[in-house]
Amino acid sequence: MSHYITPKILAGYVAPEYMMLIDGAWQKSQSGETSSRLAPGHGTIVGRYQSATVADAKLAIASARKAFDHGPWPRMKAAERSKFLHKVADLIEQNREKIAHLDTIESGKPIQQVLSEIDGAIDIWRYAASLARTLYGESYNNLGEHTLGIVLREPIGVVSIITPWNFPFLIVSQKLPFALAAGCTAVVKPSELSSGSTLFLGQLLLDAGLPTGVVNIISGKGAVFGDVLTGDADVDMISFTGSTGVGCSAMAIAARTMKKVSMELGGKNPQIVFPDADLEAFVDAAVFGGYFNAGECCNAGSRLIVHESIVENVTDRIASLSKRVRVGDPLNPETQVGAIITPLHFEKISSYIAGAKEEGAEVALGGERLDLGMGDYMAPTILTNVKPEMKVAHEEIFGPVISILKFEIKTEALDIANSTQFGLSASVWSKDIDTCLEISRGVRAGTVWVNTFMDGTPELPFGGVKQSGLGRELGRHSVEDYTESKTLNIHQGARTSWWVSNA
Ligand code: NDP
Repeated sequence: MSHYITPKILAGYVAPEYMMLIDGAWQKSQSGETSSRLAPGHGTIVGRYQSATVADAKLAIASARKAFDHGPWPRMKAAERSKFLHKVADLIEQNREKIAHLDTIESGKPIQQVLSEIDGAIDIWRYAASLARTLYGESYNNLGEHTLGIVLREPIGVVSIITPWNFPFLIVSQKLPFALAAGCTAVVKPSELSSGSTLFLGQLLLDAGLPTGVVNIISGKGAVFGDVLTGDADVDMISFTGSTGVGCSAMAIAARTMKKVSMELGGKNPQIVFPDADLEAFVDAAVFGGYFNAGECCNAGSRLIVHESIVENVTDRIASLSKRVRVGDPLNPETQVGAIITPLHFEKISSYIAGAKEEGAEVALGGERLDLGMGDYMAPTILTNVKPEMKVAHEEIFGPVISILKFEIKTEALDIANSTQFGLSASVWSKDIDTCLEISRGVRAGTVWVNTFMDGTPELPFGGVKQSGLGRELGRHSVEDYTESKTLNIHQGARTSWWVSNA
């Protein structure tokens, strides 16, 4: 039985032409230019977007600024903001299939996976709604009889929210509801490759009664107007998810006006497995971690660090499970791995595989294009004999490629795990609690999974160390991240004069 699912032609699909949400109205770009998105899995045009200019970005920022400085949003009761966020969650739920369809055709990821991403997003909007009402500051009643100290939590202001193409709806949902819960206003810029679901969210926000200017959404190329979003003096904070390279430049520009930044960047996440682990569970997680979202995932767990005594056994089992992975039509509910985002990215993945071979790695499985009649599909790929110094062992491939490295002793496993510039996530597999704790505490990563991989819930913070990022999303502090503190130092009674105290 073939595990490749031939895509069906998107017959009769009329690509929508999206406008941008600026100052409460759907608007065209000032230049009148648009761009088209080709579905990576089907090769047909599935969306036309406005190509925003610097002038559009400035209008969007001005609108968010006005809404923050003079509008009702930051001033209303948290209970009202919470009610609004719940309403948005309900609307997302009512439009679950529609949103999933948009993300699927634009990003090439499997529909069943996107549906669960949307369910995750709904849960996050509800979680943010609950946090909106629990934001509070501090008070100090122990500073002496003349002083009362109060530390207020205020919304930070206008936030530029910049998101990547690989989890379009999920990632905007990890940022926007928390910014809104805090009372901020925002300019949102989705990736030029997958803007549809974020623009659609704009309509849901309006339907839910969002006041004018609180959220502005612009589409187009980050290279054209991104510097305005990260550098304009009227923006107070940048919340960015994307590559480490673009994140670093964004931070440098934001530094000129001393903006707060939150950065969710790349990863090269190790899964370390010991001989006493539940190998069946590990093999399943290795295949999932390597091929989920076609490996186009900051959290991909594709760097397997396997004890040398089990490396052969584990490699065989991963190869045999990999052969069963259903690759193909993103719209088919059976599909587990969809299309690669663009032909250019496909070439990048292929060049990593070619480079690995030149450096001495072996392709134990896959490594080639799957010809499914249309779209860009890559076979699940396993690289063996990978050494820590090879490029594929420490750079993000962002494709369905698993690299297998081996170790002899625990400290070596940790050294290999920590030998990249990244530190997003990691996992450890063993039945021995001491081994799990030693690895968990020694590995430099924002999240460590123990005997599992890529589980998540809004309660648990997510983010990276080293060049994987700065700050955390989700978790109970996520609303606080979009605030600034203000100290009120209150004097009670007659103040002691400077002259008296100097006498
Ligand atoms: P990019 O860094 O290329 O783009 C991210 C966003 O930044 C896009 O919206 C992009 O716009 C925009 N952008 C581009 N240039 C600028 C600029 N000069 N100023 C401001 N914004 C700009 O990343 P990708 O979209 O390629 O996403 C893949 C990367 O994202 C991977 O490295 C991955 O690891 C990382 N990622 C990290 C996650 C995490 O939580 N840690 C989660 C998901 C992905 P445009 O599309 O128009 O170029």
